Amino acid sequence: MLLPPSLDDMVAQSHPVRIVSRVIDDLNIDPLLASYKGGGSASYHPRMLLKVLVFAYTSNIYSSRKMEEACQQNIHFLWLTGMQMPDHNTLNRFRSERLKHVLRHVFTQVVQMLAAEGILSLKEVYVDGTKIEANANRYSFVWGNAIKTNKEKIAAQLRELWQYARSIAQEEMDDTDPTDFPTVSAETIRETVAKIDAAIRNDPEASKKVKAKLALAKKNWPDALERYAAQEQILNGRNSYSKTDTDATFMRMKEDHMQNGQLKPGYNVQVSGSNQCIVTYSIHPDLSDTTTLIPHLEQYQTDHGILPEVVTADAGYGSEQNYEHLETAGIDAYVKYGYFDKDQSESERSKRPFTQDKLHYNQEKDCYICPMGQPMVNVGSKVNITVAGFRQQLTTYRAQNCEGCPMRGACHKGKGNRIIDVNHSLNRYKQRAREALTSETGIKHRKRRPVEVEPIFGNIKENHRFRRFMLRGKEKVEIEFGLLAIAQNLRKKVA
Ligand code: SF4
Repeated sequence: MLLPPSLDDMVAQSHPVRIVSRVIDDLNIDPLLASYKGGGSASYHPRMLLKVLVFAYTSNIYSSRKMEEACQQNIHFLWLTGMQMPDHNTLNRFRSERLKHVLRHVFTQVVQMLAAEGILSLKEVYVDGTKIEANANRYSFVWGNAIKTNKEKIAAQLRELWQYARSIAQEEMDDTDPTDFPTVSAETIRETVAKIDAAIRNDPEASKKVKAKLALAKKNWPDALERYAAQEQILNGRNSYSKTDTDATFMRMKEDHMQNGQLKPGYNVQVSGSNQCIVTYSIHPDLSDTTTLIPHLEQYQTDHGILPEVVTADAGYGSEQNYEHLETAGIDAYVKYGYFDKDQSESERSKRPFTQDKLHYNQEKDCYICPMGQPMVNVGSKVNITVAGFRQQLTTYRAQNCEGCPMRGACHKGKGNRIIDVNHSLNRYKQRAREALTSETGIKHRKRRPVEVEPIFGNIKENHRFRRFMLRGKEKVEIEFGLLAIAQNLRKKVA
């Protein structure tokens, strides 16, 4: 070749890299540019670095070193960068620092662009979630329950020491009683140990063993309590976290190659999908999907300034709190509850003939009729607070006399007369959900759900081999999933 060919001639007109480049050229990246202000100019244009990252995520390249390599060797990356070659530090800093707080803005513009082109809908969405492993050591766990048990053990041992001290030096120990601690704190331990120490230190009758235990308590317990308090602050209501990524929570993953049910540090990723595109995403520490729906919809509103008109989701989201929230927000919900699918089949229904939902309710007399025809009367009500802090009103009904009933055993195994706790409000929501789901529109949405949203995760995890986040901490994980979401949406645009 006499003259080197132009790179532009070597990139096909329909190649995805051109679409990525065109889409990002059309975006407003002012917030990103604003993050650079203050002395000196950047060596690489932020728009070019954004293109590199988005195209890398579209092409299954997630490591900054691999991106650096692609920028040096891959003709499509060379075309995209105009032969500039940012190194992995530049790319990594850009991804984890510069994109903080601005990637969401980029993502929503891409979504709105696709909505304007009719590729996805902002009105009808399908919600689903998946767990993705965090970039954290699998054995670096801190368990909330272990902290609770250790604190209880310390409190119990302290009580024993206190009682021992009282038994041999009652006069000095009369003023306070530490067995009443509401919570054990480092300060309480320090004060109590000092009091016990003062009471028995010079007592010749005091056991050497107890004195040794007291010395150990003085040395270790306050520090342990301070450590537990710091860990509880990080837990912030969760039951676990990883020491190497404190935002990651230990959860059960679908991908369990060792088949041992091992819990792994990860994040619960929720998406609203439409036509296999991601309309909104949110990252949660929750082990179940139920409690993520409300914050996910809040994120939807923050992103798009509106709420979807129709939401379809599987039984993992069918809780009283969610039904109430969807109804109040005026969203048409097609959300299953547990047992919805089983209730649709006569043979499945017949396997559970005595469950509460099979009993006839007499609204006028406010009583249930048990399988033997006895009325089960209202004997009171109580409030149940769910893990999400939602108050549920339960009404208790009791059978009159189960003694000698031929159905006993099949209907009711416990001692005494059968008692049921009924959540009337949830039952009403379930009834409405059943009517919506079995309507013509409901059936259409149920059929569409596995097509509209489920392939998103299959595509990201299986086809594009993204099974573990590269970055640590929720903020950076949000950036990474944002890049994955843009990549997923642009792949759909290209397709
Ligand atoms: S066990 Fe009690 S509640 Fe059940 S059918 Fe017999 S009488 Fe009714």
